[in-house]
Amino acid sequence: MEKPNRFSQNTRADRKEPDRFRGSNAPDTEAEGHAAAGGCRLCPRECGADRIAGKRGRCGVSWKLRVARAALHMWEEPCISGREGSGAVFFSGCPLGCVYCQNREISHGERGEEISVERLGEIFLELQRQKANNINLVTAGHYLPQVCDALKLARSQGLVIPVVYNSSAYEKVESLRCLEGLVDVYLPDFKYISADLSEKYSRAPDYPQAAMAAIREMVRQRPRPQFDGRGIMTSGVIVRHLLLPGHVREAKKIVQYLHETYGEQIYISMMNQYTPMAAVAGDALLGRRVTKREYARLLAFAEEIGVEQGFYQEGGTAAESFIPEFGGQGVLSDN
Ligand code: SF4
Repeated sequence: MEKPNRFSQNTRADRKEPDRFRGSNAPDTEAEGHAAAGGCRLCPRECGADRIAGKRGRCGVSWKLRVARAALHMWEEPCISGREGSGAVFFSGCPLGCVYCQNREISHGERGEEISVERLGEIFLELQRQKANNINLVTAGHYLPQVCDALKLARSQGLVIPVVYNSSAYEKVESLRCLEGLVDVYLPDFKYISADLSEKYSRAPDYPQAAMAAIREMVRQRPRPQFDGRGIMTSGVIVRHLLLPGHVREAKKIVQYLHETYGEQIYISMMNQYTPMAAVAGDALLGRRVTKREYARLLAFAEEIGVEQGFYQEGGTAAESFIPEFGGQGVLSDN
């Protein structure tokens, strides 16, 4: 079922006052080396699981590529989805494991089909044939060596559309360096700036420092936003923040940090689509949606401090139906 794109955008170029917010070749061996020498160290968890031997890490998956969905996706920011859609590839597993995870079905690694690097390269080319505006790698960090190989293979076979790296930002800088020259657009979250909150909700007190370093590396690789003639981003960084219920102050600190640190080097996407999942149904804050007032306070703050390159989401707060189905669509060659 086709659903509307819920994002609106404002840029310096198209802003109409006063409604500011209406609107490689990398060392793949280095990454592999993390896995080979004493287990996996790809992400900041550095849990050391012997994934090549079939063990699952904190991310929930072994070394074998597992993908839960590969299809056109209409619900990203307008410069990512465009009219035709973004070619989103949803990988199973996740190193962060937030208690309120919006993609819980796949983040624990249970859903998804095991595929080869060659098949992943084919998927990229199939999405390009379906007129995807880009390849959108959703939470791929725990498969970086394989993903880099698949991208190089697909590039050698005619993949020309931009590659978007859609990430929690819980990444190691040395792992991200593997993507230099392979990824055109970075789409990281910045979930928490306070270690207390990242410990409480993701058991990752190191998240703020890891995410700051990861975003710095992403901006180093893609320092200037660029768009094609249709407004599709071809290079750059968009940092997302999903506003959590009851946490406007945290969100303001994040927006302020991003704006003061990067200014017009990045776009900031402020999201209200938080959906309470069953795992947090009893939580006084996480068990409810974000209120209109909370979201309005965040947007007003962003405007007040001068954020001009931003995205916001239109309409009310989210319905669960905005979470895609993870039934293996587009993953196997006979689909
Ligand atoms: S990617 Fe997975 S296995 Fe590797 S260090 Fe992170 S959590 Fe552990």
